[in-house]
Amino acid sequence: MLMIQCPCCGATAEEADFHCGGEAHIVRLAGDNDADADLGAYLFERANPKGLCFERWRHQYGCGKWFHLARDSRTMEIFGVYDIKAPAPPAEIVAEARRRIAARGLPEHSNN
Ligand SMILES: [Zn+2]
Repeated sequence: MLMIQCPCCGATAEEADFHCGGEAHIVRLAGDNDADADLGAYLFERANPKGLCFERWRHQYGCGKWFHLARDSRTMEIFGVYDIKAPAPPAEIVAEARRRIAARGLPEHSNN
């Protein structure tokens, strides 16, 4: 069970109070002339990494707001939460995640 601290309201709660909205930082298609393959990739293809990942989460049974969360999908360790409007993970969260993953002797991402 993940314990998540909402960066919007500050409440700490079990993951059941939250809803995972999937992979973070997916760039929207730019225009109306995008090929079907591009639209298919935008809608359905996700990296789903085993290791460091960045996700969108919503405090569903709390303040209702969305935010980003960085965690390791192997160990469920949470490295940080940050603003939903951030276009990319903050450098300090990425650095801390890499430091803690390396301290466990794990690669940033695993293939199996
Ligand atoms: Zn909240």
